[in-house]
Amino acid sequence: MTYDTQPLDLYDLSREALGELLASWGAPRTLTLELWHALYRQGATSFETLPLPEALRARFAAETRWHIPQVVDRLEAPDGATRKDLLELADGQRIEVVLLRYRQRRSACISTQVGCACGCVFCATGGMGFVRQLTPGEIVAQVLHFQRELAAQSESLSNLVLMGMGEPFLNYENTVAALRQLLDPQGLGFPPRRITVSTAGIAPGIKRFAEEGLGVNLAISLHAATDALREQLMPINRRYPLAMLFEATRAYTAKTGRRVMFEWALIAGVNDSPAQAEALVAQVAGLPAHINLILLNPTPTYPGRPATPEAVAAFTTVLDAAGIPHTMRQRRGSAIAAGCGQLRARERAFGLLRPL
Ligand code: SAH
Ligand code: SF4
Repeated sequence: MTYDTQPLDLYDLSREALGELLASWGAPRTLTLELWHALYRQGATSFETLPLPEALRARFAAETRWHIPQVVDRLEAPDGATRKDLLELADGQRIEVVLLRYRQRRSACISTQVGCACGCVFCATGGMGFVRQLTPGEIVAQVLHFQRELAAQSESLSNLVLMGMGEPFLNYENTVAALRQLLDPQGLGFPPRRITVSTAGIAPGIKRFAEEGLGVNLAISLHAATDALREQLMPINRRYPLAMLFEATRAYTAKTGRRVMFEWALIAGVNDSPAQAEALVAQVAGLPAHINLILLNPTPTYPGRPATPEAVAAFTTVLDAAGIPHTMRQRRGSAIAAGCGQLRARERAFGLLRPL
């Protein structure tokens, strides 16, 4: 907890912390699990509905906060498969969350910060600058927001990506605390393999994350494989240049035995050359890696254009020749979830989304 001095939000409490709070109030510890189930399995949204004796309920209401983020704006793709909600937090700040329905999949893309300090030139969130960290509870609340809605339709979230606004590893503690709450088998019990955390390449964060033992997937936004180019696109590369980034990534794969995904938004004439593909092949040599290619989504603040089909073909030919696994994501669907901080810009660029 880093950002305010108000009483803790109920969603900020780990199950252990909730147990300690109840114990400090002289309440039976057995209540912890009932309360936890109400919060994470039944999707309770008000103190009145909590399974508690009246006096304890009143004490919770008096001594804790419980903010359920409210939808203040909603955009839906014409096919109805993708929806973005703008959620308002207790202090009036707003964050974007995306729900994606694709066949049996129900994926949520959630945010970890309001704004972002990294300033990647192609990113609409980067253009906002950093506003503030999200608390663990505010991260968790985004997932419960969709989970409640899906449960009402006898569905549930199947996948979760931390690819919305913000850089998860510059809000490290709160992000990891939120993940632990979401993974807790006594609560939502989200399967770790169905969660993906995406980082712009905060090398110390990657190393630290390897030690957490969470078992979730890691994606690294690479976008360029030479320092000269990556620096231009992602200023964070000056602090954590490619050598540091890959040293951390190798430590991560060695420790976890897990494959990493590299995100690469193809920008015409910028990072879509066979030379960049060769550099990428050299960087990932020997790493258990998968390259997620995506076409740049144009934003009003960046003049870059998506790569042409010819350039994409030449780029992937180099990867294929080297035997590097890769997929190209479609602009609709998962491509939207890959950068939900950019949806507002995408809406303008493509008329892809319409206000409800
Ligand atoms: N800060 C983290 C996670 C949020 S951004 C990170 O950078 O990884 C989620 C993904 O969207 C990242 O891979 C990011 O590089 C990508 N992205 C941002 N702007 C984009 C754009 N205009 N077109 C395509 N992908 C974009
Ligand atoms: Fe921040 Fe990620 Fe956008 Fe870069 S791409 S500015 S790290 S949110």
